[in-house]
Amino acid sequence: MTAEFLAPLRLSLNSAALVSNWLWLRTQSGNAACGAAIKADGYGLGVEGVMRRLMQAGCRDFFVATWAEAREVLPLLADGISLSVLHGVRAEDMTLALGSRAQPVLNSAEQVARWKAAGGGPCDVMIDTGMNRLGIGMDDIVPGMLGGLEIITLMSHLACADEDHDMNVLQLGAFRHARQAYPARRYSLANSAGIFLGADYAFDLTRPGIALYGGIARSECEGNIRAVVTPQAQILQRRNIPGGASVGYGAQYVAADPRETATINIGYADGYLRNLGSYGAAVADGVRLPIIGRVSMDLVGLDVSDRPDLREGDWVDMEYNLPLLSAASGLSQYELLTGLGSRFDRCWV
Ligand SMILES: *Cc1c(COP(=O)(O)O)cnc(C)c1O
Repeated sequence: MTAEFLAPLRLSLNSAALVSNWLWLRTQSGNAACGAAIKADGYGLGVEGVMRRLMQAGCRDFFVATWAEAREVLPLLADGISLSVLHGVRAEDMTLALGSRAQPVLNSAEQVARWKAAGGGPCDVMIDTGMNRLGIGMDDIVPGMLGGLEIITLMSHLACADEDHDMNVLQLGAFRHARQAYPARRYSLANSAGIFLGADYAFDLTRPGIALYGGIARSECEGNIRAVVTPQAQILQRRNIPGGASVGYGAQYVAADPRETATINIGYADGYLRNLGSYGAAVADGVRLPIIGRVSMDLVGLDVSDRPDLREGDWVDMEYNLPLLSAASGLSQYELLTGLGSRFDRCWV
């Protein structure tokens, strides 16, 4: 750890695991290129650190949500790297978009008209094949509407790729029609989970997000996708409490017998949400330290009776097995990552 990291809480981010996940997803993508969704600050990991490592591993195609996100990584864009802005272009974005090396993913007739009228350069187009979220509905494409655009990637997004749902085949069929009808340099349909629906879904480019960061998007990822993120927090204080004493707001935890406790520097304002308190734990050298009492905004209580050696200033890991914590808490694996707040130092190891 270098001296620049001073916060009492940090995300330990495993570079080798991130790269290994991308390389595996690339293999699973067959002949298709494998891109990376890095929106929402790289799913909470820190977009710059993610993008640098994936570029070095060979990734060439990146996806952010907004132009504000694009602006953050524009300085990193080397030759041959493409950055697509999934939410397209609003009027407010045009100045930045027209002068930028990033390209919009045009999602509506209005966005297409705006881009054409401004003489915009290369772009992507999102076709809606049944999710009804973003994208031009295939029935709404009138003849000539996409003509005159320099479409790099024509894409669509799967609503139910993480399940074996009828929607998948319907969307695949609709996307195949779109591919026949609308010329583009390449075609892209699959997110992380879509990669495992079969080779048919890969087309020319896949767009994984969650699995890069350790999410188990489908069962095929188990044993192949490695965990990347471990939140860590520093012990601020250690205390001995007698039987009958309570810990934290609402006095919800009451010690049955004398316990030793520690208060650590992490809380719901860091994305360590209150309902994780019931399932979560910290770990120190393999010893599980259960959370006691309510999670506070900035603090969490632990039972450290099994680790008499832990002191003020020592660090503990938070258990952060994404599929297990998701199943227990009802939060999605996506929420467990993207909620991780700005107070963490993000430390790549
Ligand atoms: C977020 C997103 C992805 C990545 O999805 P994951 O489920 O995280 O793999 C791919 N494509 C689009 C259009 C997205 O919005």
